[in-house]
Amino acid sequence: MSKISVIVPCFNEEAVLPKLFARVDAAAATWKTDYEIICVDDGSRDRTWAILKAQNEKDSRWRCLCFARNFGHQTAVSAGLHFATGDAVVIIDADLQDPPEEISRLLEKWREGFEVVFATRKNRKDPLLKQFLAWGFYRLLENLTPLPMARDAGDFCLLDKKVVAVMNALPERNRYLRGLRTWCGFRQTSVEFDRAQRAAGVPQYTFKKSFRLAMDGMFSFSTVPLRLATYLGLAVSVCAFLGAVFTFCEKVFAEQFAKFGFTPGPHGIPTLVISILFLGGVQLICLGILGEYIGRIYEEVKGRPLWVIRESAGIVPPEN
Ligand code: UDP
Ligand code: MG
Repeated sequence: MSKISVIVPCFNEEAVLPKLFARVDAAAATWKTDYEIICVDDGSRDRTWAILKAQNEKDSRWRCLCFARNFGHQTAVSAGLHFATGDAVVIIDADLQDPPEEISRLLEKWREGFEVVFATRKNRKDPLLKQFLAWGFYRLLENLTPLPMARDAGDFCLLDKKVVAVMNALPERNRYLRGLRTWCGFRQTSVEFDRAQRAAGVPQYTFKKSFRLAMDGMFSFSTVPLRLATYLGLAVSVCAFLGAVFTFCEKVFAEQFAKFGFTPGPHGIPTLVISILFLGGVQLICLGILGEYIGRIYEEVKGRPLWVIRESAGIVPPEN
């Protein structure tokens, strides 16, 4: 019989956990397979870990890990993928925005032979600004990367164990999982679903965390921003050249230019200030973009472990 692993990253989710246990157990009863649920406590400051540990004592199919601090959602899911033992691995959020009842639809596609089944959001019930930014981001990324990135697909997905093995072998530290999933290839398909509202508790993805995730997606999967410096440089040079030609002609053909109202005069100061500021801005933007890439190279070169485990229940971390 095949075995399904479900990975649930949890950060300060004490309010939603009892609901999660009930909904996932009820959904799992319909799968008619062996299963395990791997909950990764991403350094919560509330009672999340105590509740998870109690759940493991009640039902050993609920296996849990606790990080030594908050390492972030993508890292928590990466750790889950590392310890999953199932033939297919499903990733869901703890807040029940990805309904556990939908997992059976993902399983159906997997049984049809697809190795990656991701769920795309038909609609989302997030704040308007978040919806708008997410909409813009997915479309921008689509244009910046040669990979066929799916629009409006989050981390809610099913991965065959072959794909999980490839993902686990990827050594990078900036883990934009939905990008890595696309990069892996294999036979991929999608299933549409209605993203629910958070069942309880408050969102743990702050604006800063979401922005960092978007940046990771952009800089890990595209080098187009690096080329931006070249394009901006070219555009500025062309403008400067045209300006120089114009000024030269204005002096030489002063009479003809005067007919059109152009009179050369000592009004060069604003032009000078504007060009200096403009060029300064362009240079700083380009430096910033270089910095983003260099910072990421630095992170990779340091080679620190992706996560540190403080405690576990039902899982024996090999390194501890
Ligand atoms: N999460 C996490 N670490 C974090 C932030 C969030 O493990 O630093 C988990 C959180 O517990 C939830 C999932 O990631 O299971 C999605 O978070 P949230 O619901 O806050 O994000 P949103 O749905 O608002 O994008
Ligand atoms: Mg959520």
